[in-house]
Amino acid sequence: MKIKFCPNLKKSICILFLVLSVPNLQAQDKSNTYDESQMKAYSILWQQTAAEYRALCYQAFNLASVRLKEIPRRQFRKGNLAIITDLDETILDNSYVGAQLIKEHKQMNGAEWDRWTAVSKATEVPGAVAFLKEASKKGITIFYVSNRDTASVENTLIDLKRLELPNADAAHCLFKTDTSSKEIRRKKIEENYKIVMLMGDNLTDFSTAFEKNSIQDRFDKTDLDQKKWGDKFIVLPNCNYGEWENALYNYERKSDDEKVKMRMELLKGF
Ligand SMILES: [Mg+2]
Repeated sequence: MKIKFCPNLKKSICILFLVLSVPNLQAQDKSNTYDESQMKAYSILWQQTAAEYRALCYQAFNLASVRLKEIPRRQFRKGNLAIITDLDETILDNSYVGAQLIKEHKQMNGAEWDRWTAVSKATEVPGAVAFLKEASKKGITIFYVSNRDTASVENTLIDLKRLELPNADAAHCLFKTDTSSKEIRRKKIEENYKIVMLMGDNLTDFSTAFEKNSIQDRFDKTDLDQKKWGDKFIVLPNCNYGEWENALYNYERKSDDEKVKMRMELLKGF
């Protein structure tokens, strides 16, 4: 038997199909967002729950402590020794803001970052406080060279003071003004101090050579400085964000779909 549809019924079926399709499209969009946020959740959970992360941080600061002990006495006699350290994911653990944004289904932006720094709830990266206190006790001055906005110095100092970090005052916080490059700020400190160590989770915390480079260039320049890692340069782990992530997308703003495509192209299988 052949079923005949009246024109109105056909129209109704089409409308019904469209209505049913819309939630599916929405679900597809949501699943992409979900994938991106779950990717971030994984790296944040590594920072918050992996004892291996904790051990790597201790390892970095233990090594830094060994290097301090190797500094000749005559250098201390001359005075004006300084350590330049980054703050975020080097001294301060900010994983909480990433975690909160995932829970709230939001993406990171300037306003969300400000919301986080305003509450001054950052904790220390494991081992950071003890190491900086040890360095300060030896007479070394600590400079916090961070790409936090200068407007957030006051809120940041609440964290630094609560953690009882040395040199926790505005004069030792060189935050971002007009450029994210830290070179000018490093040079400024070098006018009056001998820099014995640099600490960071991002290779731009150490040298301009790593600014906005391709993945291969970053590798090549890391190889050139091979002897400095674990010596004058102390690196902290951060698989959550950083210049390495920007390099994946050629420092360009990409949609979630484009990011997925680029990541797939970069993955090296066998
Ligand atoms: Mg950092």
